[in-house]
Amino acid sequence: MPLTVEWDGGVSVEYCGTRLIFDPQRKNRCSKIFITHAHSDHSKGFSFKNSSKFSTGETKEIVETYGKEIKDWKRLRVRDEFKIGDLEIVCHNAGHVLGSVLYEVTTQECNVVYTGDLQFKDSFTLKGARPVPCDILIIECTFGSEGFRFPERDTLAQEMAKWALKTIKGGKIPTFKADSLGNAQEITKAFNMYSHLPVVVHWRVAQISEVYRSNGQGLEYLSSKLEEAGDVTSSGECILITPKNVNLADHPELEPALASGWAPWSKKNAFPLSDHADFNQLIEFIDACKPKTVLTCHGGRFNHTFAKQVEKRLGIQARPLDLIPTKFVSEH
Ligand SMILES: [Zn+2]
Ligand SMILES: [Zn+2]
Repeated sequence: MPLTVEWDGGVSVEYCGTRLIFDPQRKNRCSKIFITHAHSDHSKGFSFKNSSKFSTGETKEIVETYGKEIKDWKRLRVRDEFKIGDLEIVCHNAGHVLGSVLYEVTTQECNVVYTGDLQFKDSFTLKGARPVPCDILIIECTFGSEGFRFPERDTLAQEMAKWALKTIKGGKIPTFKADSLGNAQEITKAFNMYSHLPVVVHWRVAQISEVYRSNGQGLEYLSSKLEEAGDVTSSGECILITPKNVNLADHPELEPALASGWAPWSKKNAFPLSDHADFNQLIEFIDACKPKTVLTCHGGRFNHTFAKQVEKRLGIQARPLDLIPTKFVSEH
């Protein structure tokens, strides 16, 4: 029996009549949904009726802060191993955001790994992912273009702290616009470690940081909803973290800077802080997993360019996952 991997609005894996779907973005015929992490482009499956949902407890807790009610859910933990039909599934840490995992699916003949979003190095809040040796590697390539090379995290944090102090001296409040899940907590931790400035966060960020805290992450911050936060911001001696899409046009007292992996493409103040692997780390991760085939996804047009780079640099056959279904039949 071949194992078939294909794109079906998510990553579909089928073997001996058992079909699983990972991070589905639209409803389909599969009743077993595996979710890697809480970012909205990966966690839509939580709203699909009549399907069993599998994720870590942290992922579910974060998604619940979006106001979603989750039914028919099963908790997974890192290093959990279990069977569905003839497929064995193992959860590994993905290092991307709190609760993020990558999935390994094993049959009698081969194994396939789907990374979801991936961070290969330790961040301020999380341990990086470890390589998982596999036959087929389905890998995200959000930053799968050579232009994306992120600096060392410590260096970057020190630069951000320097910019913040300079901005305060100039009479404005340094304001980081960041993803509410992932980068916002990284910035909080970076300033807790590298400066004495209090961190004030938008209430939306605070909701998610609360989940980090309740799961043992020592983050120090004030929610902008608290009275104390008002006192701190009127003193001008603090940093502010807001979601990326908050409009700050009516706030001349704030000096915004983007904190995102997309910083190299930004014309304004920006810091290349990311919860994803950069180009080199993606290549390094693949090299360490030693797959026979690489299938790229979650990279838009980088799905093609990154697959080409994998073939060129590592000599491993690679193509976008959504191109054609991939069948794997053991040669032994
Ligand atoms: Zn993500
Ligand atoms: Zn993603």
